[in-house]
Amino acid sequence: MTKKSKSERKRLLANLEQVNEELGHLRNLMLGEVDVELDEGDTEIVEREKTAALIAVLERRQQDIEHALRVIEMGQYGICERCGGQISPARLEVKPDATLCMNCQREVESINRRSRAPRAAPSRW
Ligand SMILES: [Zn+2]
Repeated sequence: MTKKSKSERKRLLANLEQVNEELGHLRNLMLGEVDVELDEGDTEIVEREKTAALIAVLERRQQDIEHALRVIEMGQYGICERCGGQISPARLEVKPDATLCMNCQREVESINRRSRAPRAAPSRW
């Protein structure tokens, strides 16, 4: 393991710990009893939905970090999974858990967007 990937590993582990802590906290919130007056119910539901959305984001983040850690352990850190090219250090600086180079990331995102985006409503005239 190179010195660089060792320090990245440390950073990712610290990051993961943070995410886990936050997730634990949010999950506790979700487990809490909803104990509100009827007319406050809506706010409570909105709050819970926000919490649930945040949990989903953090879970995703957790998976990304865990994935990046596995990649480091396999000695593949900083190498694009898609094209095998080097991921630029600048990109890794911003996103230490990146597993794709900038180009591949853009391509993957545009493919995802295309397949997920709802079709434009057909015009009716
Ligand atoms: Zn690539």
